[in-house]
Amino acid sequence: MTAITYRVPQKRHLVTELPGPRSVALTERRCRAVAAGLGSATPVFAVDADGGIIVDADGNSLIDLGSGIAVTGVGASNPAVADAVAAQAHRLTHTCFMVTPYEGYVAVAEKLNELTPGDHEKRTVLFNSGAEAVENAVKVARLATGRNAVVAFDHAYHGRTNLTMALTAKSIPYKHNFGPFAPEVYRMPMSYPLRDPEGADGVAAANRAIGMIDTQLTADSVAAVIVEPIQGEGGFIVPAPGFLPTLAAWCRMHGVVFIADEVQSGFCRTGAWFASEHEGVVPDLITTAKGIAGGMPLSAVTGRADLMDAVHPGGLGGTYSGNPVACAAALATIEQMSTLDLNARARHIGEIAFASLSATAERLAAAGHDVIGEIRGRGAMIAVELVKPGTTEPNPELAKAAAAHALSRGVVVLTCGTYGNVVRLLPPMVIDDDLLREGLQILDEALTPA
Ligand SMILES: *Cc1c(COP(=O)(O)O)cnc(C)c1O
Repeated sequence: MTAITYRVPQKRHLVTELPGPRSVALTERRCRAVAAGLGSATPVFAVDADGGIIVDADGNSLIDLGSGIAVTGVGASNPAVADAVAAQAHRLTHTCFMVTPYEGYVAVAEKLNELTPGDHEKRTVLFNSGAEAVENAVKVARLATGRNAVVAFDHAYHGRTNLTMALTAKSIPYKHNFGPFAPEVYRMPMSYPLRDPEGADGVAAANRAIGMIDTQLTADSVAAVIVEPIQGEGGFIVPAPGFLPTLAAWCRMHGVVFIADEVQSGFCRTGAWFASEHEGVVPDLITTAKGIAGGMPLSAVTGRADLMDAVHPGGLGGTYSGNPVACAAALATIEQMSTLDLNARARHIGEIAFASLSATAERLAAAGHDVIGEIRGRGAMIAVELVKPGTTEPNPELAKAAAAHALSRGVVVLTCGTYGNVVRLLPPMVIDDDLLREGLQILDEALTPA
């Protein structure tokens, strides 16, 4: 493993209150210029970011435990990625792959075909965003099967476009008053070990969903089942063992396309290239984005050649899809992930985070403040679900307060979850161990009652 080098000092350092005066002034400009419907998790404007540090407009250095929502796993200005982007931008920024194709696109497709689970013949098509990849996976599945229905799950998040809103479970803020939604989307119960009557029995949870599909739809009308192998926005829900393999096996038996939405869980995040691998699941189609290109916008659908090649020429595409600069960034990002062995780094981060969060949970419980309902996740995709002391009742107030407290101390952490009560950790995989430990220590304080 090659050593990680940093350009920005990897030290938390606060020189103003947060937000500082420059961020406050920028927020005032923002409010007059940017649509109010766009939220931000923090009121802090960034000017620089590298490794595990974000530098804000006032010169504060914050610990980054969010990676811009699981995007900058290799760092927000990884030198190899930055060089690849600059070199490509000086040659050509765009010709449109649908007009005059270029090698970078083909090379990214080859890489994805090689890295994604399964050694069957595969094809890839590139897009710009996660939502666009999901839309296109559904297009491919419907066309290839000649069927309409798509099954999604409780707590699912698949994006903000019309079809992906329909696939997404949570109304506020994603769907509320944005309908009507795309039809032929059916929602089934998820395996959610903490809250599910089926508990740790993933096979039973899968069979419950399958039974409902059989009664409500029948298998032969289902084009696709789409599932996040670890749910992201829904709360970092790791389905109980057996859930994913049982669903995938049922799909295979009935000619239903099994789509793994790995937009958040992919690219070393969970300590494997893809989260499906942890249970040996081989998806028919897999959607990727976020971590794929070190911060540049790129997404992909990769999957069985027979499904992908069923689509007529011209049926898939997009003006910017597979932009050459984004492709150059993706190739450099994937190379960095191998060179730096970020799968091993992600597992190492997971060990540090689990140990620290477990110690926090024990300490809080011993003090009669039993608010950590569950610590879960894999690799560098870790969360704590917060509850009212000693119950399983969600505690979104604490999640919000803890994230705010952490920010005031210079640590960026994100919340998520259907009930808004989950604090999630998505540090860049290149974060320094000491910086990670410091961030976790501040999170410990943030969860401790004043
Ligand atoms: C973020 C996300 C999406 C949507 O990706 P965008 O790039 O924001 O469109 C889809 N699926 C999952 C699992 C995600 O986490």
